[in-house]
Amino acid sequence: MKPRPEIRIRGRILYDEGMAGHTSFKTGGPAEIFALPADREDLLTLVDLLHRRGLPYFLLGRGTNLLVSDRGIRGAVIDTAELQEWRSEPGRLYAGSGQDLSRLAWETGIRGWGGLEAFYALPGSLGGSLWMNARCYEVSLSEVLLSVDYYDPRQGWGEMNVLAGEEGGFGYKRSPFQDRPGTVILGAVIRLGEADPEALKQRMLDCEADRRAKGHFAAPSAGSVFKNSRALGKPSGKIIDELGLKGLRLGGAMVSPRHGNIIYNTGNASSGDIAALILKIKEEVYRSTGWTLEEEILYAGDWS
Ligand SMILES: Cc1cc2nc3c(=O)[nH]c(=O)nc-3n(C[C@H](O)[C@H](O)[C@H](O)COP(=O)(O)OP(=O)(O)OC[C@H]3O[C@@H](n4cnc5c(N)ncnc54)[C@H](O)[C@@H]3O)c2cc1C
Repeated sequence: MKPRPEIRIRGRILYDEGMAGHTSFKTGGPAEIFALPADREDLLTLVDLLHRRGLPYFLLGRGTNLLVSDRGIRGAVIDTAELQEWRSEPGRLYAGSGQDLSRLAWETGIRGWGGLEAFYALPGSLGGSLWMNARCYEVSLSEVLLSVDYYDPRQGWGEMNVLAGEEGGFGYKRSPFQDRPGTVILGAVIRLGEADPEALKQRMLDCEADRRAKGHFAAPSAGSVFKNSRALGKPSGKIIDELGLKGLRLGGAMVSPRHGNIIYNTGNASSGDIAALILKIKEEVYRSTGWTLEEEILYAGDWS
């Protein structure tokens, strides 16, 4: 057996931790090292240590956009859940990247500060949503971002000023962090505007009800599997629906009967089942439209 790398932090270190308990698909093999740093300082100590030793690491938000290989993840998975600091002042909010974006939307919305309401009931963390530039109900997260603070073990601390989404590198489901592997998003300042708390609350509850009606929470999934493309003229889910693929099953994976762009784990799916179903959908769409759908979900771990 390979010796385990000795790692000491104030938070928790687990070895061979199954990723099914850390992803919304509820699938995925073991992470060689699974670290839950106690706070921001602990996380930075860990990242520096892994960087010095040349050990690969993967930053985990809530795991709601990930398909982790059944073979697992080599190196370390760093859970950012403890980056929970949060302070607000009129017109702006600073939050650590481990915060639930939905919770931030609610806590600010009920106090009469608008800006995040479209993100209510999105299951991701602030950090993961920023990395993905999550987009809900026609609003991309970059549109309400003022700045992001981050740490790169090669270069140190950085602060990115994002003026109303004009910062280069943000776009549809794109953020500059996708081109900076190993960079840790620590937190962000979000622009908020004064609004009627009751109206904000109602908007949030409407968003949640809409998601529920679309079957978002009916079974483990990672939300939309494919990106939408303007070139196609209609959403990817509609194309999949028109091809009669809703309800299609492969192993324990199934295209949601309610929404063509969502794949469910019906209970016993492996990540391999889900990946095979994704491939099947892509082949069918390509055959009938000549278009190759692009995944929005991310493949993590060993897919070789
Ligand atoms: C039911 C459901 C509905 C969904 N609806 C939507 C939707 O409407 N719109 C939408 O855009 N998405 C949607 N999603 C997908 C997902 O919730 C978003 O992409 C979310 O923003 C991902 O956040 P996360 O914390 O889970 O990130 P993860 O899946 O954990 O990670 C995503 C990426 O971010 C990186 N990352 C995470 N944290 C950090 C950090 N602190 N520093 C650096 N990198 C980091 C990871 O390494 C990974 O590359 C949905 C998912 C589900 C399950």
